[in-house]
Amino acid sequence: MKKLSLAISKGRILDEALKLLSKSGIQCDESPYDSRKLIFNTNQKNLNIIIVRASDVPIYIESGKVDFGIVGKDTLLESNLANHIRVAKLNIASCKLVVAGLKGTKLKNNMKVATKYPSITKNFFQKLGYPCSVLKLYGSIELAAVLGLADVVVDLVDSGRTLKENGLTQLELIEDISSMLIVNKASYKVNRNQIEKFLTKINI
Ligand code: ATP
Ligand code: MG
Repeated sequence: MKKLSLAISKGRILDEALKLLSKSGIQCDESPYDSRKLIFNTNQKNLNIIIVRASDVPIYIESGKVDFGIVGKDTLLESNLANHIRVAKLNIASCKLVVAGLKGTKLKNNMKVATKYPSITKNFFQKLGYPCSVLKLYGSIELAAVLGLADVVVDLVDSGRTLKENGLTQLELIEDISSMLIVNKASYKVNRNQIEKFLTKINI
């Protein structure tokens, strides 16, 4: 059997993904939290775990350098890469991608929209019939709506607490998000049995 490598997004997804794996007895040989390593052996002789930034996961899978990965649906939708198969929805790191703004804001033509997700945002507003201009930001997106740097924002929301504490509200739902397991297309062809065994092992 080939040694497969699994890329996991850093940040929130990593915590929940490691819990999901450890419930099924899959563990890294060192804690990714205490180590500077980027590639970990696991207690499964045919599995490596590679830890990468969320938005880089689809790129590694696209290239085939990594066989499969755990990544947010938000990142997949934004990336526009397609050399993979979405084999499972994992129901971890669940949240929503929404349009948010000051209460009472009405969506209209030509708004300025701040977001980490320019492609999703352009498409969504285009479909509504309100083409917009996008301002790409890298963090604390809500701030742009509070300070009037943008008319509205497109961002991930979980409990809604950040919106609430900053006087913002959800104006539209774009997509329900959770993490997905994606597999490089060629790797899926060659290693299908092994990947299906892995899915069974983690109860998917
Ligand atoms: P970086 O901080 O390095 O720019 P990032 O901000 O994309 O990376 P996270 O904030 O950990 O990293 O988000 C990674 C993924 O976790 C997102 O793509 C999304 O799928 C999921 N996620 C983000 N925010 C939430 C949330 N509030 N609740 C649940 N899942 C979330
Ligand atoms: Mg972050």
